[in-house]
Parts: sequence; structure tokens; C-alpha cells
Amino acid sequence: MLFKRSVEELIDDVKIGKLDEDTVVSYFKERSARLDPKLRVYISTCTIKGKKGPLRGIPFAVKDNMQLNDTKTTSGSKILENYGSAFTATAVKKLLNNGGTVIGKTNLDEFAMGSSTEYSAFFASKNPWDLSRVPGGSSGGSAAAVASGMVPFALGSDTGGSIRQPASFCGIVGYKPTYGLVSRYGLSAFASSMDQIGPLTKNVRDAALIGNMIFGHDSNDATTVDREINVMNALENPIEGMKFVLPLEFTKDLSSNARHVLNEAVENLKKLGAKVEERSIPSLKYAVSVYYIIAPAEASSNLSRYDGIRYGLRVEKDSIDETYNQTRDEGFGKEVKRRIMLGTFTLSATYYDAYFDKAQRVRAKITDELLKILQTHDAIIGPTTPKTAFKFGEISSPLDYYLQDIYTIPANLAGLPSISVPMGFVENLPIGLQIMGKRFDDSKILQIARAYEKVRGEFPMPNVENGGEK
Ligand code: GLN
Repeated sequence: MLFKRSVEELIDDVKIGKLDEDTVVSYFKERSARLDPKLRVYISTCTIKGKKGPLRGIPFAVKDNMQLNDTKTTSGSKILENYGSAFTATAVKKLLNNGGTVIGKTNLDEFAMGSSTEYSAFFASKNPWDLSRVPGGSSGGSAAAVASGMVPFALGSDTGGSIRQPASFCGIVGYKPTYGLVSRYGLSAFASSMDQIGPLTKNVRDAALIGNMIFGHDSNDATTVDREINVMNALENPIEGMKFVLPLEFTKDLSSNARHVLNEAVENLKKLGAKVEERSIPSLKYAVSVYYIIAPAEASSNLSRYDGIRYGLRVEKDSIDETYNQTRDEGFGKEVKRRIMLGTFTLSATYYDAYFDKAQRVRAKITDELLKILQTHDAIIGPTTPKTAFKFGEISSPLDYYLQDIYTIPANLAGLPSISVPMGFVENLPIGLQIMGKRFDDSKILQIARAYEKVRGEFPMPNVENGGEK
């Protein structure tokens, strides 16, 4: 039952010689190979061994929008289908330097634009709790891989919720660090002012452990900060006396069953001596609108580099303009095109003031409001998602689809650290509790999540094989 072991437990097993490193890696590779036909998690598999270090023998998976030497990095797009990595992303390299072994690159919505993996150019991944449902996205492959025990942990990226939302849908922990704590070097840029890499794990201690390994200033990413931070230090401390806000905006769309699960979580936090105050944070209602102006605007600029000349696919035509056009037409999928058009529109001279500029101002307002609350309160909490995992094809309108991110986006707009930790089930599907804090209060939100996880008790794993492994 190695697949149930946490990263920490596996590290101990290897350290005391109970397991040898090769056994652990081959166990997870074998399990991955067995379950992948059902879950469709990997775009490619590999065995990239790291150096000697604490993670020796520990396999992990990497979302396929991060560069890794000797693998392809497709970003879930046809335009990069055959693109070989030119280097290794800093976050991945740090884990390799700590001894980890990458065993696969995971599926995602194209260029991380989406919430289900249905926008992957290749195939959709499945939710291990119910194969007729999406695992969430865009880091859906990574989330499904961890939830089903194909790997002990994985890396994802989160621009508007792409680590936390799939973690919520799959019943695992997903942690988006404060913007600037983890280098984005080697991560395919989507919306650079919000993109952040983070871990998906089975529990909070593992999230902190991996977080510590990937933080740090990087001369290749000027937005990284030079700060000593150790999120393991305060992890087991009590949270008595802490004050949380549960925004009314985060509960008004919940079903009564989801509300019930949330109430239980709130009761548990109160048992730990925390105070939970329900109140309105009015600017939150603008978060989705603002995000869907800013993220596509940044994306339209970032994705201009895929022109058929410099990277990946080239559809050769008579003139250079036709080559650009045809390459981009054939290379990009419909959601990516929608966003490029939206972004180009809101950035155009005529509409810049009415859309992009205004959105930036509202973003500043949302940030101010959140920071003000976080001066007097320790965290803002709520459900990670309004609903549990939806069925394939269930959401067809882009607007409904975008509303999936309603609770996760504010943390990205404001650069805040945020974590999703499983809080229960609504009609047999998992849903997460989200905890966000002040910038660089990563230790505190992990501490809260850890304290909560302890009162909540053990969270089950799905039985993907129907073979009674659970
Ligand atoms: N679902 C959101 C979007 O489609 C967030 C994606 C992400 O965080 N990468 O943009």
C-alpha cells in the first residue's frame, strides 16, 4: 500500500532502509502505468533522476507547462506538441537537486487556460472519484495523479485557481505560494503577474515540505524575492485566538449540502479556538470580471511568441504573414484563441481605458480591501469551489465555465498565498476548504490548514481499481 504513504513517510522509509530508493520509484511507475489508461493523466512519461538528497527515491510528476531537459514540454497545445525542452525550470531543478525523480509530465488545459483539462489539445484527464467527471484544471493531470496515488506529489501552476480548484475536485491538498516565492523560470507564461508554481500533495505537511524546497530568489525571474522562509517551523503550533473572515460572497451560491460541509469545517476551526466572522467583502464580486480582462490581456502578449518561426509547429506558406496566421490557426485551440482575441481587444488603443486600465484599477481596489482585512484578521476562509467536479461536457457556456474560479481568483489578483485542503464530500464528491493569508504569511496559512487537517481526521483516497485496495 505504498501509494497511501505521504512524502514524509516515504522519505523515512528510505532513510531507515525499510525501502530502497529504486523499489519506491518502480512501484509508482508501475502503478502509474496500470492506472493511466483509466485516468489519462500523463502526456509523457520519463525517468529523470535527481541528485542525492532528502527526496532520493521519491518520484513526482510535473505539469507539462514546465521545462524539463530530456522531455517534451507541450503546455497541452498542438503548437508545442513536439517541442523538446531547452532547459529545466528552476522549481523542477530544485526538486531534482533535492533527490527527486520525475516520472511523468501531466495533462493540462492548453497553456493552463481552463478548469477541467477538457481544453487540452490531446485528451481530457479523469477524476479518480468518478471517471465520468473532470478532475478540475488546469493542473488536472497533476491532481488526478496525486489523488489516485500514481505519484506521492506533483507540481502544478496556478494563475486563477489551477492548483487549488483541481485539488478541491480530487480531494487533495493544493498550495499556491505567495506570488514571488517560487521562480516562474521555465514555466510557460500565461498571465505573468499571477502565474505561480506550487505543490499538490496528499496532506499539508507534504505541501510545506515541498514548498520549502522550491522557494527562493532566482536571478532568472526578477519577480522572485530574496527572503528566508521556512514553512515547516510553525506547522504544528495551535491556532487558538486566530481570527478568520468568511466572506458572504463566498457562500451565497453554495448548495445546502455544500454549506453543511462548510459549517462543519467552521465548527472544527472554532473548536481549535479560532473566531470566524461572516461579513461582506464587496469588491470580491468584481474579481472574475477583472481576471478575465487582465489574464487574457497578458496571455495575448505572452502567446505572441508562438509564431511558427521560433518555437514548435510551423505551417509553411508562401508569405511570412500567411505562415504566422496558418500556424497559429492550426496550432491553437478554441479557448486559447478566444483569450488572445479578448486580450488583443481590451489592449487595443480604442478600448484600453475602458477595459484594461479600468480592470487594473479595480484589481488594486480588491487587493487593498483584502489587505486591509488581513491586517486585523489572520486569514480569509471559504470553500475552494462553489461546486464539486462536473461531468465532461456539462458546462458549455464560457461564462459559466469562468465562474468556476470565483473563489480562487482573488488570491491571484492580490498575490496572496492560498491553500485548498479537503473538507468533506458533497454527494460523494470531495470539496476543499480554502485558506488565504497576507503576502508572505505562507507559514500561517499552512499552520491553519494543518491544524484543521488534524481535527478533520484522515481523508480517504478513491478506489480507482475497484479491486478493494481502499
Ligand atoms: N481556470 C482559470 C482560467 O481558465 C485559471 C487557470 C489557471 O489558474 N491557470 O484561467
